[in-house]
Amino acid sequence: MRYLSTRGHPERRRFCEILLEGLAPDGGLYLPEHYPQVDVATLAKWRDLPYAELAFEVLSLYIDDIPAADLKAICAKTYTAEIFGAPDIVPLRELEDGVYLEALSNGPTLAFKDMAMQLLGNLFEYELARRGEELNILGATSGDTGSAAEYAMRGKKGVRVFMTSPDGRMSPFQQAQMFSLQDPNIHNIAVAGVFDDCQDIVKAVSNDLDFKRKYRIGTVNSINWARLLAQVVYYFAGYFQATGSNDKQVSFTVPSGNFGNVCAGHVARSMGLPIRTLVVATNENDVLDEFFRTGIYRVRSAADTHETSSPSMDISKASNFERFVFDLVGRDAAKTRSLFEGDLGKTGRFDLSADPAFAEAATRFGFASSRSTHADRLATIRDTDKRFATLIDTHTADGLKVAREHLAPGVPMIVLETALPIKFAETIVEALGRAPERPARFEGIEALPRRVAQLPADAEAVKAYIAGHCD
Ligand SMILES: *Cc1c(COP(=O)(O)O)cnc(C)c1O
Repeated sequence: MRYLSTRGHPERRRFCEILLEGLAPDGGLYLPEHYPQVDVATLAKWRDLPYAELAFEVLSLYIDDIPAADLKAICAKTYTAEIFGAPDIVPLRELEDGVYLEALSNGPTLAFKDMAMQLLGNLFEYELARRGEELNILGATSGDTGSAAEYAMRGKKGVRVFMTSPDGRMSPFQQAQMFSLQDPNIHNIAVAGVFDDCQDIVKAVSNDLDFKRKYRIGTVNSINWARLLAQVVYYFAGYFQATGSNDKQVSFTVPSGNFGNVCAGHVARSMGLPIRTLVVATNENDVLDEFFRTGIYRVRSAADTHETSSPSMDISKASNFERFVFDLVGRDAAKTRSLFEGDLGKTGRFDLSADPAFAEAATRFGFASSRSTHADRLATIRDTDKRFATLIDTHTADGLKVAREHLAPGVPMIVLETALPIKFAETIVEALGRAPERPARFEGIEALPRRVAQLPADAEAVKAYIAGHCD
């Protein structure tokens, strides 16, 4: 399998070459040259596999530069009941007739990002050892991504994490989750500023090419192909659990922000998994819902980006969206480049409403969408608690609310549960008047000793800190 750039760079790369990279050299995103096809006989073979073996089968179709035995061992080491809280890793439960929740949030940080990040940690350690190299991961987080990255990379050989976050702005639970890690290869940096300051620092450091090369700076952001690929697996696992045979269709609803999760669903569907509809659920930051309703993709300004009670979906643009648009326009790299570099770069928007390709987003690619608001979230959390004695988090509530607007008779609807309610306790209290239950292993974490450096919002200060903490 070779990988290409959505913007047409002539070079073709292999999996392990793009594993440790971000964007392609021309600013595009990497995608496989084609999507391997999975037929009914293969689905039948895969149906009863344990999750780790299913992951190995799916990954093998896209990774041919890691020996099979090694890849199998990496999958087996990653997807264990110990790490993910249940032997079936992503258990499905029926909420009401035909509506299911697929649990993706029982990993170390209680959000679905662990599903991919845990694999990435093991792939990084493997590949860095093979090359005899080291990597310093520099990131910016307002919550879920940073903690998932730290829990995936803690104790891994050859990897250090430098994670910036806005000082005092994450929830007390999220701060405690990250700052209580005592692993010497994990460095928390609380920046005196807001999340945008952290992102600007990461950009400034990455743009200093000499520094970047000297200190081997890398990232783990959501455009990483390996992360997306890891997420493809649980669409198969959800499908098998919701159906009894391989001639049935299911639909998925995906609480969405950067379009990574639902893009993995698009890849699974493109491989031949019988998915009828991929429903994109957004919160008040409805960039994606607007596109699927109107054909207009319009990036929001910072002032126009809302702080909501489903904060992991608070995006101004969707960083993985270019992957889908590339497929939507028939894999025309010149067209993708002109949309994202030309129109979007110059005017902050592009308009496909009059393009015949746009209609195919629904007809050929199966996409639908809706949005959900704070009031919807509260009502859905209350209703789910009352009728089903089930507590869901704010992002999953957006998904469930939206899913009910897209039900089709006889087609199971699987809502992806993207986090556990304890991570967003304030809103649960607002909805129910009581705090969510806390898993035993997180009891009292706020009182643990903290390992965090306070730095000014200044790229030079962060560079000096990195330089001072590399061996
Ligand atoms: C990251 C995240 C999302 C959004 O996922 P994308 O892949 O960015 O679309 C939704 N819910 C939760 C809880 C998240 O952490």
